[in-house]
Amino acid sequence: MPSLYCSRTRPIRREKLRPTGVWTTNLVESPSAYHAGHASLPAIVRLSLAHQSEPAVLTRLLTLLALLLLAPATAIAATVVQAGKLLDRPGEAPRTEVSLLIVDGQISELREGYLDGAAFGLPDAELIDLRHAYVLPGLIDSHVHLTGDKGGVERAIANVENSPADTAFEAAVNARKTINAGFTTVRNLGDRDGVIRALRDAVAAGKVVGPRILTANTMISTSSGHGDPTLGYREELHAGLDRSENVCDGVAGCRRAVRRQIATGADVIKMGITGGVNSRISVGLGAQMFEDEAQAIIETARLYGRKVAVHAHGADGISMALRLGVDSIEHGTLLDDEGLRLFVESGAFYVPTLSTVNGYHARLAANPDAYSGAVLAKILWRIDITGGSLERAVPAGVKIAFGTDAGVSKHGRNADEFELMIKHGMNPTSAIHAATVNAAELLGLSDQIGTLEAGKQADLIAVDGDPLSDVTVLKNVGFVMKGGEVIRGDLAK
Ligand SMILES: [Zn+2]
Repeated sequence: MPSLYCSRTRPIRREKLRPTGVWTTNLVESPSAYHAGHASLPAIVRLSLAHQSEPAVLTRLLTLLALLLLAPATAIAATVVQAGKLLDRPGEAPRTEVSLLIVDGQISELREGYLDGAAFGLPDAELIDLRHAYVLPGLIDSHVHLTGDKGGVERAIANVENSPADTAFEAAVNARKTINAGFTTVRNLGDRDGVIRALRDAVAAGKVVGPRILTANTMISTSSGHGDPTLGYREELHAGLDRSENVCDGVAGCRRAVRRQIATGADVIKMGITGGVNSRISVGLGAQMFEDEAQAIIETARLYGRKVAVHAHGADGISMALRLGVDSIEHGTLLDDEGLRLFVESGAFYVPTLSTVNGYHARLAANPDAYSGAVLAKILWRIDITGGSLERAVPAGVKIAFGTDAGVSKHGRNADEFELMIKHGMNPTSAIHAATVNAAELLGLSDQIGTLEAGKQADLIAVDGDPLSDVTVLKNVGFVMKGGEVIRGDLAK
């Protein structure tokens, strides 16, 4: 189970402050305080905690907590959201005129009608009026690369010009764009130098605004495979491009590569089983890994309880991965009958990443020479064929999880994927289900996100208009709350 809150930078771990739910409720001054560690404690507690050893801190804290328990109920920080329309469980019918009580970053209760804090016994609760709006769970993008959205030649130059520090600042900007677009959770499927792992932890600690992040760290690849960083650069430069991070050959090497990702904090393992469209090499898009190598990666990931996401275009790679029992196929461009059958049998998710085509179109329109020859041929092929697999997967009953591959397409434009999903065989109900309930299941976070129910994180968004009749309204999200904290409130009254 991946941890959502990697709290090693926080001075006091929340778990240690949490003997009962009642105490926690009294401790937190505001939903956003959840992320702020020490700063979230009442001033008297903060002062008295200074310069004490951990056992002493705990003893003192328990005493103070006992005192705080005697405080009136008004000390409880809570928010009430009044929703005109509420799609609390995507896939089921929306509800009308519902009030959600949020305490301590989590949904505490849903009740019919427009109620205020007093009706919930919490007269000081903050009231957020979304009676004119359509409220639904925060969206989840199962496939992003927050470190940038340059492509082709531009990206090749950035790879050698930018330091990990440069990349980290860019990733922080992209995280902000992503959550502003209504995506409150993302799964990052490949970066280098631990940039996204650090961003994940900084967001969880409240230092940077962004979506919850699950990261694969660096994609595992065989040499000359999709994740080999040396492809396309002249040989003298290879020594400066670190392949040891993720490139493996043979069973032992591939086991080691997974363990390296685990050691550096990966929540999920990503492997490239076939060639890649953006790899700067002309070796096709079929399988480029032997079965024993793929199996070694998957088995090692399982040893550590990690899920496996597989980059695959060619049908041979898709089927090999599904036979070996992976959790998701990313792209899945050439999906044949065997692949369809294996998807349904195994229950793996298909993550279509149709938005890539938007990125290719935009770059080629701006600069016809944006891609070098080897890559350009693959891109033109992908533009032509993308969407066909989804058209086959939907009627076959394959489980679909929303994922854009943002980074190839623009960050903050994640919701453009909905339109493409509908163009290629889905409807608004199933597309929103893919971006909430299904994506939460793929990420292993169904108990925390994906629907708006008591006990789950208060991750919710609001739009002006009905996304079940016009899914494009999701491109203009006007309210975003993550873990009870309002990230943007422009649509609220
Ligand atoms: Zn990707």
